[in-house]
Amino acid sequence: MKAFLIDSVTGNTMPDLYRGFVSDKGNLLQLTYNGMFNPSTLINRKHGMWRYRESIPIEDDSHIVSLDEGYTPLLSVNVNGHSMLIKQEQLFSSGSYKDRGASVLISYAKAAGITHVVQDSSGNAGCAIAAYAARAGIRCTVFVQHTTSPAKIAQMKMYGAEVIQVTGTRNDAALAARKAAENSFYASHCYNPYFFHGTKTFAYELCEQLNWKTPDAVVVPAGNGTLLIGCYIGFADLYRAGICKTIPKLIAVQAENCAPLANIYNHTEHTRTLPTIAEGIAIESPVRGNEMFQMVNETGGTFITVNEAEIKNTWLACGKQGFYIEPTSAATVAGASKYMSGNNLSTVVTLFSGHGLKSTEKTIAELCG
Ligand SMILES: *Cc1c(COP(=O)(O)O)cnc(C)c1O
Repeated sequence: MKAFLIDSVTGNTMPDLYRGFVSDKGNLLQLTYNGMFNPSTLINRKHGMWRYRESIPIEDDSHIVSLDEGYTPLLSVNVNGHSMLIKQEQLFSSGSYKDRGASVLISYAKAAGITHVVQDSSGNAGCAIAAYAARAGIRCTVFVQHTTSPAKIAQMKMYGAEVIQVTGTRNDAALAARKAAENSFYASHCYNPYFFHGTKTFAYELCEQLNWKTPDAVVVPAGNGTLLIGCYIGFADLYRAGICKTIPKLIAVQAENCAPLANIYNHTEHTRTLPTIAEGIAIESPVRGNEMFQMVNETGGTFITVNEAEIKNTWLACGKQGFYIEPTSAATVAGASKYMSGNNLSTVVTLFSGHGLKSTEKTIAELCG
């Protein structure tokens, strides 16, 4: 089965193994791919995201770059008095669900014969790309904002990546990466659709773990929306193939201090952008904001915001139940509990998006200061 990168405006197809991060006309890329796994063939396969092999748009097995990632546990957890199912996405090799996207995107880079990738990240996407590039033997340069957690920078360096700290906004780091990528490959988690065709396996796994019954709602973070978009693609695939009978509502969570989409959606004006402890979702202008809007709308979902106190209290409460997560992860589950308090739903699924060891300095500041 062949995958095609398509200009989202003109519909034109890009050449095979296209290396650009936008189309030849400068528009966002989409990926079309019709491969779909068959649930009846899964029983003897390894418990990882590549068990859905037919759905992943990498043609040749020899290009797969993997750390046997995925099939994370789905646990019932009580958060702020609400019982929800939480997928343990902090348990990936690099410590966040970004490994799903990185595995597929770096496999594509390998297929395209790329020898150097450039990335920009608030932290975890950079860590994931650096890890998989290392696994593939591909050189990696990551541009980060100067405020990025030292633990994440150290992690990227441990993988052998070159890390360049940019003084300025998150967007300044992105611009610097784009410039550097002119002579290499921009392995962007927001621009390159191959990333979403990795994160979509979150939806497959979750439904398989629920015996192909879709939950009522899935609560996801909404920074650049890499999981949100992946979820939409994954659930739409399952629905189209007749594997699942419904598509869950997608509930997108933003920090009140940086809520560009929620503000538009809910006609609120939550201040200007301020720092938030949820650094992983502090994205002022998401590249695919329109798509995120459309997807949330189409599923009957909504955008919600959480404030700093809600994030922090939920973070500490999760620790007391045995879950060491980073504050960004707490924002999503705080959003899930807030959503549940206003809606009577039987099954709500969410995730711990990143591991607590990612932000040790925040834990120290909070508990050992
Ligand atoms: C990347 C990330 C998010 C937000 O994901 P987006 O793709 O930007 O929406 C949330 N939590 C953690 C831990 C992350 O690494």
